[in-house]
Formats: sequence, C-alpha cells, structure tokens
Amino acid sequence: MTDSTDSARIQHPGKPARGCMLHHVPMEKTTVPVIYGLIYDSAEYLQARRDFPNAAEPVRAGCVVGAGSFSDQEDRVWACPVCTALSGAWENEQGA
Ligand SMILES: [Zn+2]
Repeated sequence: MTDSTDSARIQHPGKPARGCMLHHVPMEKTTVPVIYGLIYDSAEYLQARRDFPNAAEPVRAGCVVGAGSFSDQEDRVWACPVCTALSGAWENEQGA
C-alpha cells in the first residue's frame, strides 16, 4: 500500500504536501501535450524558468517513439498554476 494519491492532501509529519516551493500553492494536475523530437532551450528561457520552475510544459518524449501515432498525445503532470501563468506571460513577451 504505497499509493498516496488521496492521502497527499493530508499533512503528514515529515512529508510535505506537494506544492510549489516558490509560490506556496498546491500543484494541480494539468493536461499537457506530448511533443517529439529534439527541443533546444534558449539561454534566456533557462534563465527565466527559474521564476517558474513548476510550470506546466509539454512532455518531451525525445526522438525515441514507438509505432503509435505522433499526434494528439497528451499526458498529465503536476504543475503550479502560478508558475504556469508566469511561463505563459514570459512566452508572450518573447513573441511581442
Ligand atoms: Zn509556482
């Protein structure tokens, strides 16, 4: 019995609740796309990401895939809603 999905909401001594250390808010299960191939992060992005370390991001499946479809793949990840909002705002700035 190691499944702690439901008990994660309970504050266990010595076992902090899953949350964003930066914004002190609980993480949320977020649906993100799965992307394939190699992705290169710019230095600017890696620097900015320190402000939103738990943003919801596409899952990077790398370039090793099975025989399945390449499209319409999604995954569920834990993400901080504040980080995700900051990430989106940062990306909008870059595109401006
Ligand atoms: Zn956060």
